Amino acid sequence: MINLVLFGPPGAGKGTQSEKLIQKYGFVHISTGDLFRWHTKNDTPLGKRVKEIMNSGALVPDEITIAMLKEELDKNPQAKGFLFDGFPRTVPQAEALDKFMQANNTAIHYVIALEVTEEEVRNRIAKRRTIENRVDDEEEKLNKRITEYFTKTIHVLPYYKNQRRLNTVHGIGDIGEIFNNIATIIDKK
Ligand code: ADP
Repeated sequence: MINLVLFGPPGAGKGTQSEKLIQKYGFVHISTGDLFRWHTKNDTPLGKRVKEIMNSGALVPDEITIAMLKEELDKNPQAKGFLFDGFPRTVPQAEALDKFMQANNTAIHYVIALEVTEEEVRNRIAKRRTIENRVDDEEEKLNKRITEYFTKTIHVLPYYKNQRRLNTVHGIGDIGEIFNNIATIIDKK
């Protein structure tokens, strides 16, 4: 079993690379953003709780996010490996993830951070806004998401770096080439 965290700011290309990684390696994909969007779209009790927070661009509280993640893990006991996309976004989430992995006698084997400049991220999201119509891609909300990334989520990087689990990949350029760079890291170990 191999488990991977794909890390990066909003618009870094995590969704695009995730699709390719799933195809090649057969990971079970866990995107907390997709899960929250599913809950809000289907107006579940969890969706009702997080709708306003999400639409503002703020992070959902750890307690709620971690509980949802745990539920997803429990739904997939046969998984060959997990690809975490958009999780962990805070140090407590990273610690919780390690505990869940340990409890199943496994670990997070790779953390791959996509490095993309803030300017590039803003351009990409402006484009995506016209295609996907995501409410949280509006300018003010996007600013909030980018602030959340640079004030909270960024601290997850030293957490993994100190444990020598961090790999960085340049996230600007040809999608296939970026994918090959990620695959090289996975195949090397
Ligand atoms: P992005 O394009 O910003 O990477 P996502 O689709 O991953 O967006 O997440 C959308 C929103 O869902 C976030 O702005 C946040 O409100 C919520 N969210 C997703 N994952 C998490 C998480 N791990 N912790 C807290 N909130 C989260």
